[in-house]
Amino acid sequence: MKIIMLGAPGAGKGTQAKMLADKFEIPHISTGDIFRANIKNGTELGQKAKTYMDQGLLVPDELVCDLVVDRVKQDDCSKGYILDGFPRTIPQAESLDAALAEIDSKIDFAVNVEVPDENIVNRMSGRRACVACGATYHTVHIPTKVEGICDRCGKDLILREDDKPETVTKRLNVYHEQTQPLIEYYTKKDSLVEVDGTKDMNEVFDAIVEILGK
Ligand code: ADP
Ligand code: ADP
Ligand code: ZN
Repeated sequence: MKIIMLGAPGAGKGTQAKMLADKFEIPHISTGDIFRANIKNGTELGQKAKTYMDQGLLVPDELVCDLVVDRVKQDDCSKGYILDGFPRTIPQAESLDAALAEIDSKIDFAVNVEVPDENIVNRMSGRRACVACGATYHTVHIPTKVEGICDRCGKDLILREDDKPETVTKRLNVYHEQTQPLIEYYTKKDSLVEVDGTKDMNEVFDAIVEILGK
């Protein structure tokens, strides 16, 4: 099953993608995570990406597309995968489709997790990420057992620099301008499905699984 997660920053794409990846035993591919790993390791890609990410802007398509296309052609993706945070622009979607067509493959579902803008700043300011294992929590909605400590691996949690309210507003504008047009793109391809992302994380998950099962 080849799935794309769509939705505003903070809609819950990553949370659901991780749960789906566990259930279907397929890789979770997050371009944001790939960039953050590159930044941490001081690679050239990381250095280039950081200048855009810090400003709440998208990293240019040419730095993203080949990376994802190479990744989905790897052996562990043969049964399927979940793309989280890619594509984010129409040219990215077109380049993915073209690369998949070459290997006789295509996306099965683009899952749009709908959350209104007014909920997003709250989602982002409460988001806490584990520095070590990448797990994501929310101070109010999905709290850890011990404040500031990852339930899974015991390491410290951080507030992402780009989750501060000033940058979030910018990222939301970028989302509406550059990413939202993908909803129409995948509707036309008959692969769009929608879920109400304001519900509890387990309810959202059940709704997605029910749709995918059909
Ligand atoms: P979010 O939690 O908002 O969905 P991500 O972790 O997916 O954020 O991405 C963080 C940042 O990484 C984005 O704001 C953007 O700068 C960059 N990024 C991630 N994926 C892409 C992509 N497909 N195209 C361009 N930039 C991207
Ligand atoms: P995205 O990948 O779309 O940027 P995340 O999955 O990182 O979003 O979720 C953003 C924040 O909202 C995180 O703090 C996460 O723990 C929290 N969150 C995710 N799903 C829900 C939900 N259904 N209800 C409340 N909070 C949620
Ligand atoms: Zn952890």
